[in-house]
Amino acid sequence: MRIPDLLEALRGEYGDLKWWPADTAFEVMVGAVLTQNTSWTNVEKALANLRARDALSPEGLMALGQEELAEQIRPSGYFNVKADRLRHLLHFLEASGGIETLAALETTDLRSALLGVKGVGPETADDIVLYAFERPVFVVDAYTRRLFERLEMAQAREPYDVLREQVEAALGADVAALNDLHALIVEHGKERCRPRPRCESCPLRLHCRYPGTTAHP
Ligand code: SF4
Repeated sequence: MRIPDLLEALRGEYGDLKWWPADTAFEVMVGAVLTQNTSWTNVEKALANLRARDALSPEGLMALGQEELAEQIRPSGYFNVKADRLRHLLHFLEASGGIETLAALETTDLRSALLGVKGVGPETADDIVLYAFERPVFVVDAYTRRLFERLEMAQAREPYDVLREQVEAALGADVAALNDLHALIVEHGKERCRPRPRCESCPLRLHCRYPGTTAHP
């Protein structure tokens, strides 16, 4: 299936999801770390704790001690590790001159700089580059891998950057399309293309050869 056709089919099914659910670029960055290995529902609880303490800013987060920060983000799981990672991100922001200075970087330089932060891998970096800085990169996650493999658009264990570049080549510099496609794939992965998929009502079933689908082209 072509990537623009996949985007169109998912948009037709799920509409405009208006990602990322955050008020500021900094909140996107914090959410991108907190969402590692957990569901967004748990992230929302941690963000609500930080918001209630007026700590959803670089200064506010820094003012919390390490233990207090870990306690407030406890609902997101791996809270000691994530508290460390958030501190690394804060130090990076401070050393880089803040979000406004980073916003002046070329996309590849911005991405490389984020990948240099301890605890920030490709998926977290691309969440930040796409949703906080609105640059044309694609976020590859477990939902993307599952869907692309089932649609025979990717091999098993395809390297992260191969998948990312495949989508970026298809959608070019269309940030809105890259934003939507990731959000829609997550929604589709939760609603239908689950580990045990609900193929009967799937809008992609005519393009899918995953075992269990009955309508093939
Ligand atoms: S038909 Fe089933 S396996 Fe294929 S994309 Fe849809 S939900 Fe996933």
